[in-house]
Order: sequence, then structure tokens, then C-alpha cells
Amino acid sequence: MGLGEKRKILVVDDEKSNLAVLNQILSMEYTVLTARSGEEALKRVEADSPDLILLDIIMPGMDGFQVLVKLKGADHTKNIPVIVITGLSGENNEERGFFLGAVDYITKPFKNAIVKARVRTHMMIVNQMRTIERLGLVDPLTDISNRRSFDDRIDVEWRRCTRENKPISFLMMDIDKFKTYNDTYGHPQGDILLQSMAKLFCASARRPADIVARLGGEEFGILLPETTLDNALAIAEKIRQDVESLQIPTSDGQTMTSATISIGVASIIPGETDIIRNFIEKADEYLYAAKNSGRNRVCSGSA
Ligand code: GH3
Ligand code: MG
Ligand code: MG
Repeated sequence: MGLGEKRKILVVDDEKSNLAVLNQILSMEYTVLTARSGEEALKRVEADSPDLILLDIIMPGMDGFQVLVKLKGADHTKNIPVIVITGLSGENNEERGFFLGAVDYITKPFKNAIVKARVRTHMMIVNQMRTIERLGLVDPLTDISNRRSFDDRIDVEWRRCTRENKPISFLMMDIDKFKTYNDTYGHPQGDILLQSMAKLFCASARRPADIVARLGGEEFGILLPETTLDNALAIAEKIRQDVESLQIPTSDGQTMTSATISIGVASIIPGETDIIRNFIEKADEYLYAAKNSGRNRVCSGSA
């Protein structure tokens, strides 16, 4: 979520006047989406992935409880917090709502200040969750996937290529003589180099399924699903050349610095008995062949 972007709330109520009031109360702070039935609510959730839902219980057709059960039963929607809106007539509706997975309730007729306060509390929890997720998966220096997130995602792509009998390729990359670069220009400048590398790699692997990750200190990986060895080699060679010609100014602007990288490339059409770990290790072996044969080069083979 970019700066100034608002979180999304889906408000579900069959009464137009309620929707209008809730929209008025909340639209200063949030982007408000509305739905006038349970069926419409589920469609809106699929289309717009709201961050939080305010859900009326008593509605004709599919009621709020049924919507709640559907939402909590699907992996991609079960973590969206739902605040139920219950009328005075229903005695045990709050309890039943909690039982079905609601995080809170508001009773009708509602007070504006209470709606705002409840929503704000739960949105704060949403924000904290997003931060925790981000910290766990993104490398803070380069803003690309870290190893943990890489391990999760490679698993998914590997299984997909196995199922569909498609090639998958992997580039294991390591900056050459990075210790010398740090010693010469200082550690903060080394960090800038790592950030520039990450940017360059992301620009080079642009398909949605491609995964660019920082796997360790100055080691990066790029996973290229549905990519043959030949195509992966072309990408690797292009990256090697782009890095070689990249000029990075020092922060005082006085000096231009440059670096090179070595790349090991492995490619495979994974079968049921192949293991990801061996595939990654192959790329690692080719990387070390590249280092040992003089650095600033691409080495490869089939996994
Ligand atoms: P080679 O060509 O064999 O890869 O040599 P190298 O110097 O790149 O490899 P070596 O493993 O000897 O040194 C890696 C260096 O990377 C040492 C370490 O201080 C540095 N490094 C690791 N993480 C970071 C980081 O986050 N920032 C900076 N600036 N340096 C880092
Ligand atoms: Mg109603
Ligand atoms: Mg190195």
C-alpha cells in the first residue's frame, strides 16, 4: 500500500439508509465499498479484497451468518476481520457471530463514534499484521524477497512445473570480490551496491511468476518458471553484462564504482522424484565453477 492510499472497508447492509450513514462516517478515513445482499457481498470480496468487513446479520436471502461461514471457510478470505451489525431483535446474535469467527459487533441503532472507534481498533490490528508479514518475507535492505519467502514460493512454482511438465530454471548469483568493494568504499557504499543489484535483477526478470530474492549477504537468486536452459542462459548473460557496465556513484558523487558478478544456471523439467534442494545445489556448483574459472562469467548445465 503506497503512501496516502486508504484501506478498504466493505459495508454490507440491505437497507440503503444504513449504507449511506456508514459510508458517510467512514469515507474520510477509508475507501468504502458497499453491498446490499449476502450474495453481492461475496462477489465484492472476490473482486476487491477488502481489509475489513462490516456485516449486517438480518438480510433477505443469504443472511450475515451464512456470509460469515463462507468467508471463514475459504483460505483467501478467512483472515479478513468481520464486524457484525446486529439489530435489537436478535438476542444471541452477537454470541453466534463470535462463534462463527467475527472479531466484534455493533448493535443497531449504532452511534457514529462507536462505529468509528471499533473500526479503527480493528484496522490497527490489520496494519500491524501487514507489517509483521512484510518483516517476515521482505529483505529490508533491498526490498525484495528474502530466503524464507523464496523457499515458500519456489515450492509452489516447482510443483506447478512438475504437474504441467514444464522447464524451470534458476540463476544463483554472487557479487565478485565484494569484500574488496566494501574495504575500498566502505560498508554503506556496499549496501548501495546491493540495492542497485536488486533493482537491476528485478528489471531483468519481469514475468509475474519470476522470483528475485536475496538469499544471503551478497548472494541473490532468480527463479524462472516455464523457462528453458537456453532462455535462462540468455537472461543470465544479459544480467552479467548489465552489471559489468553499471556505474554507481559514491554518495559524495566524487567517484564512479563498478562490480561484476558470477552466475550459475541450472535448468530442469522436474519429475516426481526430483528434489528442489538438489536443483538449487546444482546451480550453486555451477556458480562455484564460474568463480573458480575467473569470475565475471556464467556457468551452466542441466540439473
Ligand atoms: P567472491 O568473489 O569469491 O565471491 O569474493 P567476495 O569477497 O565477494 O566473497 P566473501 O564471501 O569473501 O565476502 C563477502 C562479503 O560480503 C563480506 C561481507 O562483509 C559482505 N557483506 C555481506 N552482507 C553484506 C551487507 O548487507 N552489506 C554490505 N555492505 N556487505 C555485506
Ligand atoms: Mg438488515
Ligand atoms: Mg562474493
